[in-house]
Amino acid sequence: MPKRNRPSKLCPVCLREFDWRKKWERDWEQVKYCSKKCRSSRSTGKTVNTTSET
Ligand SMILES: [Zn+2]
Repeated sequence: MPKRNRPSKLCPVCLREFDWRKKWERDWEQVKYCSKKCRSSRSTGKTVNTTSET
């Protein structure tokens, strides 16, 4: 696997890009959030309050 060309995704909760991780090797397709924290805040309906920088 090419190390310099890792896939990345955008977390819909904190709106940050996160990189592929070894632990997601098998289910990268299902990974949507950068962390447990984001995933749980999504499922409880709370969103992480990020300042919208535009
Ligand atoms: Zn996140």
